[in-house]
Amino acid sequence: MSGRPASRLPLLDTEVFLEREQHKSHLAFTFEVEPGTAYLCLHFDYQPARVGSLRNLLTLSLSDPERPRGSLHRHHSGNPQVSWIGPTASPGWMPGTLPPGRWTLWIDAHAVLEPAKVQVRVDAEERAGQEPPPVAGRPQSELGARKLWKPAGWWVGELHCHSNHSDGQWTPEQIAASAAQEGLDFVALTDHNTKSGGSAWPAWGPLRLSGLELTTFYGHALVLGETWPDWREGIPFAQLSEAAEQQGDLVVMAHPAAEGDPVCTGCRWVHPDCLPGPLKLIEVWNGPWSDRNEQALQLWHRWLDQGFALAITAGSDAHSASTWRSGQIGRTVIASPSLEPSALLRSLKRGQAYLSCGPHLSAAVREGGAGTADLEVTVQGEKGEDSWMLRLVQSKGEQSREAPIGSSRQRIERRWGEWVTIELRGPHGVLALSNAIWPWGSPLRSS
Ligand SMILES: [Zn+2]
Ligand SMILES: [Zn+2]
Repeated sequence: MSGRPASRLPLLDTEVFLEREQHKSHLAFTFEVEPGTAYLCLHFDYQPARVGSLRNLLTLSLSDPERPRGSLHRHHSGNPQVSWIGPTASPGWMPGTLPPGRWTLWIDAHAVLEPAKVQVRVDAEERAGQEPPPVAGRPQSELGARKLWKPAGWWVGELHCHSNHSDGQWTPEQIAASAAQEGLDFVALTDHNTKSGGSAWPAWGPLRLSGLELTTFYGHALVLGETWPDWREGIPFAQLSEAAEQQGDLVVMAHPAAEGDPVCTGCRWVHPDCLPGPLKLIEVWNGPWSDRNEQALQLWHRWLDQGFALAITAGSDAHSASTWRSGQIGRTVIASPSLEPSALLRSLKRGQAYLSCGPHLSAAVREGGAGTADLEVTVQGEKGEDSWMLRLVQSKGEQSREAPIGSSRQRIERRWGEWVTIELRGPHGVLALSNAIWPWGSPLRSS
């Protein structure tokens, strides 16, 4: 805050030492906000931030007496971190009036690799802090990006990306501009533990789906919809995801095979009651196609075999313009009667979607007789010099065939498994991926 007025009122001023044993724990502090308080200014600092090539990772979260007000998951900007909240707010905090009463501030200790000294101060203020300097736009890299094919009735979008409201390096407006330029119909802005970027989404941008990336100590999940689960209350993740789903929202297990501790603390999915438990969706394509995505694909196949009818999603997980669309980044293409959030989410959950970095892929099932089924597979796209293969995966085997452009009939046999998925592959991995298809009837756990 610059030019702090004389009416500054300290509400919380504390210094704590975190030991290694407090790795993956929360510290809660409460303070009282008086009626008529305009702004809160928060000062947050911890040392050491870096531990060799790794880092201590501490974030702040805030709740007013009624609801969450966001998180300061902005460690990339260095310490100390100065922020404010009120009718306007710095990125990470939800702007709005400040209801009087008891507020809660958490230190979320994602990683304490070395003991850390932490300072937190909250002051009531009469006016806002200074706007941060605008984030410099970087040229968008579309190296290797392919034209997106989208027949009528399909909507294409991005389901996982980050802005400067968490640890991203670009603004929601810049994301909207890139998405519009690419022709995307919808974007879920999924900042870490906050929805504050939503208020910065421009009216001219593509449809924004309300969302966030619930960044827990034992895995990351995209929550798409209006709910904002509290992961600090010690509620088992299965219970928390079921509650969100009852509201019509979706919980997606994100990048399940990501590198975990200590390099990327909490990034790998290990919630024991959600392997996959009641979860209905899994992000099998995170960022450019990679070995970790191949592992996620295997995991998905294993769970299909066990009767879990998980639907799939893709997301760039872009944190900047340069990671938005470089290489083989998957988008999620949804068949939906309308471009409307609840319709899109419903179709996504039912598996009425495919993933693609460009080509269109769809399939219709026909009775083949004698334990067989025929898949009418349609592929559209610009093949160029690439060789494209169709890989049909069933639980007990797989077959690869050259992929013709247009429609083709692919016969599959029931003895190779009850489900089939269709992969369109090029020299650098998956180009498009279907959801699971059950030609001989619905699975045990349809949603
Ligand atoms: Zn994540
Ligand atoms: Zn992410």
